[in-house]
Amino acid sequence: MINRSLSQQLDDLSKGEYSSVELTQTYLDRIENHQSLNAYVSISKDVLEKARQADQLRAAGERKPLLGIPLAHKDIFCEAGVRTTAGSKMLDNFISPYDSTVVSLLRNAGALSLGKTNMDEFAMGSSNESSYFGAVKNPWQVDRVPGGSSGGSAAAVAARLCAAATGTDTGGSIRQPAAFCGITGIKPTYGRVSRWGMIAYASSLDQAGPLATTAEDCALLLSAMAGADEKDSTSSAVQVEDYSKFLSQDLKGKKIGLCVEYMEGLDPEMSRVIEEAIEVLSKLGAEFMDISLPTSPLAIPAYYIIAPAECSANLSRYDGVRFGYRCENPENLEDLYKRSRSESFGQEVKNRIMVGAFALSAGYYDAYYKKAQQIRRLIKNDFLEAFKSVDAILGPTTPGPAFKIGANADEPQAMYLQDIYTISANLAGLPAISLPAGFIEDLPAGIQLIGNYFDEATLLNLGHQFQAQTDWHKKAPELST
Ligand code: GLN
Repeated sequence: MINRSLSQQLDDLSKGEYSSVELTQTYLDRIENHQSLNAYVSISKDVLEKARQADQLRAAGERKPLLGIPLAHKDIFCEAGVRTTAGSKMLDNFISPYDSTVVSLLRNAGALSLGKTNMDEFAMGSSNESSYFGAVKNPWQVDRVPGGSSGGSAAAVAARLCAAATGTDTGGSIRQPAAFCGITGIKPTYGRVSRWGMIAYASSLDQAGPLATTAEDCALLLSAMAGADEKDSTSSAVQVEDYSKFLSQDLKGKKIGLCVEYMEGLDPEMSRVIEEAIEVLSKLGAEFMDISLPTSPLAIPAYYIIAPAECSANLSRYDGVRFGYRCENPENLEDLYKRSRSESFGQEVKNRIMVGAFALSAGYYDAYYKKAQQIRRLIKNDFLEAFKSVDAILGPTTPGPAFKIGANADEPQAMYLQDIYTISANLAGLPAISLPAGFIEDLPAGIQLIGNYFDEATLLNLGHQFQAQTDWHKKAPELST
């Protein structure tokens, strides 16, 4: 059961090979046995009951697209009546009174909520080490990080503790953990998926998407998650496609750009992974050409002004009054604010609030925040130029494979550089997918394809065709128990 992709599980359920209750119980047992990975923060209490109901509905002829499939949700998505922590002590006891749009859309499509996955605190991080609930372990080598911030989701899918999970990506948080854990993840175009009920980090960059073993599964999930939502004014009215329909399209004549700035100075092992992927896609009829994204070296500095600026504003709502952690015996209102925040935010979150507040302050706004926004526009212009001649841009997802837990803990800059290939897509608002494409030192390596606005279909088509010729996505780590 557990080595079947989500799409295969749907087939199995409809043929009666096993029931949703059996599938759910299998995952619950595995989660229990592999608690040491620390991938989940909490397990849904009623998931078996929901699985029973799904089995009954199926027996009665109901055919919802994800009926009876247990999914994990990153603990950033609010779910009514369920603890939603965003990996922070601040929200350790927060029970959401409402559902995020992503959770309710997936539930409406028939999916079950297996539990909530661990993540970097407020999605700030590339290793999952900033979580209040402790680091997640990479199931391929448990002394390695799974990536972040959706590290719990990626580790859970890789370890077969669920067939698929939701994630969010502000600067790479779906794609980088997908690459580190040997699975597939897509960050959709900004506005493709509603952000309602998704705890905000940097609102102009945050976007939700699926993590699964295959592009086919991502297509299925994204079709269910995407769409306009009156509760999120940045969600787009562009028609949602049935992404599964485009998967088998021929790649003949598809034009793929290779960004010279990404390929220069790339680690030789990573270059080999890219070369091999080029060969596979060329055989399928794709044509490659060099393109340039000249402002891409400015992406990280711009991001680390814009994201902290937005986070400093978004996180101001955690004041110890309305919800979340409140300090003991405050002396006065100012003490309440100060101590509630300083006692419950972790160091990385505090650093970013300080940087963001500084960049937005009078006198510095023009020098930092405004400049960063101008760079953001130049980055977008580079992509607009490139997409005049190509359908997608291929490159690495990360500079190398998963690093050791603790390796970058004291070097924020080294940690930030992990996102060097992923951040531009967020700044420009473009969709991008990470696909498993090989191994480096027995650890998974991922390739990234960046697409044009609202052209998730092309990325999923390329991903599916690539996976029809390769078996990297079928590899699973051997777990000790
Ligand atoms: N690693 C990046 C950061 O720390 C991206 C995180 C994300 O995409 N949520 O900001």
